[in-house]
Amino acid sequence: MGKGFFQVPTAINEPIKSYAPGSSEREAVLEQYKTYFNGNVDVPMYIGSKEVRTGNTKPMSPPHDHKHIVGTYHTADQKNVQAAINNCLESRNAWANLAWEQRAAIFLKAAELIAGPYRAKINASTMIAQSKNIHQAEIDAACELIDFLRFNVEYMSQIYAEQPDSAEGIWNRVEYRPLEGFVYAITPFNFTAIAGNLPASAAMMGNVVIWKPSDSQIFSAKVIVDIFKEAGLPDGVINVVYGDPVMITNTILASSDFAGLHFTGSTHVFKELWKQIGNNIHTYKTYPKIVGETGGKDFILAHPTANTKQVATAISRGAFEFQGQKCSAASRVYLPKSTSKEILEFVKADIESFNKPGSPEDMSNFITAVIHEGSFDKLAKYINQAKEDKNADIYAGGSFDKSKGYFIEPTVIVTTDPKYTTMETELFGPVVTIYVYDDKNWSETLQLIDGTSEYALTGAVLSNDRYAIEEATKALQNCAGNFYINDKPTGAVVGQQPFGGARASGTNDKAGSAQNLLRWVSPRLIKETFVTPVDYRYPFLG
Ligand code: NAD
Repeated sequence: MGKGFFQVPTAINEPIKSYAPGSSEREAVLEQYKTYFNGNVDVPMYIGSKEVRTGNTKPMSPPHDHKHIVGTYHTADQKNVQAAINNCLESRNAWANLAWEQRAAIFLKAAELIAGPYRAKINASTMIAQSKNIHQAEIDAACELIDFLRFNVEYMSQIYAEQPDSAEGIWNRVEYRPLEGFVYAITPFNFTAIAGNLPASAAMMGNVVIWKPSDSQIFSAKVIVDIFKEAGLPDGVINVVYGDPVMITNTILASSDFAGLHFTGSTHVFKELWKQIGNNIHTYKTYPKIVGETGGKDFILAHPTANTKQVATAISRGAFEFQGQKCSAASRVYLPKSTSKEILEFVKADIESFNKPGSPEDMSNFITAVIHEGSFDKLAKYINQAKEDKNADIYAGGSFDKSKGYFIEPTVIVTTDPKYTTMETELFGPVVTIYVYDDKNWSETLQLIDGTSEYALTGAVLSNDRYAIEEATKALQNCAGNFYINDKPTGAVVGQQPFGGARASGTNDKAGSAQNLLRWVSPRLIKETFVTPVDYRYPFLG
């Protein structure tokens, strides 16, 4: 077979479509939304070449209309999970040995399918499954997933090109082997792009994968599977199972061939998984790679010199877009006394200008529903608690209603206690808590931010004073993996702002970067000597 050092197409970020009234993309996505909404899809698991239907089904409903059913999915029993493991292992040899450019072509084709024929489908399914408005669906399900696939192909080729030096008479080479075993990808509800990327990034590097999507994302996960299949991903490379996460995980982590975990979700679950892997360590053939991106308590800090309208906009977008259900969403804010009143008034005016939370099908809705009843009840509890507590006030919003959809009004809590519970706990909803600091306590406030939360995912400082920016950048060095200056703390773009946090927020392996892909390979160094010595004696022996 012919050989070559192939150059992959240069990755560029997928342009975001506007969906403005009258645009063709708006018509296409609304038509697809109606088709899905009025349909009744039956989603199987995918194990090897089989579509597995166990008959143990669960309904799928849009969070903004939870009594309406758009389909069902089949859940696994232990035999199905074991079959997925066996299938991975049967598929491993052929996939691991396939030329890398063939793997690259599959995922580049998947990116083009999303950009073109599947764009309306992946966006409409995300609007229904996760209640994203069209802009949020577009930047996630279409653009970010396309970017992950294109940029990761480029990073993969850069990794393979990275080779050691060779001294005279020898040749050193590194081959980047996939892990010996299979990778387990567990994905969260909140980003269709993450759901696609966690199994795909490991598979791209030659690994076989078992993917367990979140129960709340299966409707859009099915579209990802359809895309990968049409792109030519061979059966058995990514096996997909749904159902009881504890049973599925116990079965997978008991396998001696378990070689890596690619997780995104909550901190508590990740810590338990890490512990379980540690307890099983004698079972495994290799030390499993563990990559996890988890929760956050992301901050915005305004300096007295910051432009008040800019701070308010960073809060309104950073805290409330996608109902605050981004791991990067601003949820604790520190405002200086001198400008806090003005900033708060701007934020209140923004909230009052949003429509009441509603369906994403109505494109004038900025805010839709939170993901499920558990999330709704948790948020309602914290809002009710703030109404009672002496050290907290509901400054804006504060109402909620789950009769039709899980709707929580965007809510601003102002507290006099910088360690108030909602300054420390990840709520994962459209609730932001504000603490007003005395302008003269700027430096102390930096220490406060650093010491307030176990997380270190994102954070933003807004200031027009360079000395203050420099001081904040240094003082807050360890409290955010992604740190923003004069911007909101959300909206990381693949290829531009590789994303991940430290402390309890995760292993910080930066999704959408070569660093992440390196976790899915085990390099083998090959040293070849051209003229091999025939005498053990070194000259110094005389
Ligand atoms: P979650 O932890 O409830 O679920 C995530 C996944 O873990 C799901 O597939 C779920 O079924 C599975 N799971 C739940 N319990 C499990 C168990 N005992 N064993 C194995 N798997 C289990 O999280 P979610 O509600 O889907 O997502 C929101 C969370 O994800 C937030 O904490 C958010 O901050 C975090 N998140 C982080 C990032 C990041 O990059 N840091 C990105 C997106 C989401």
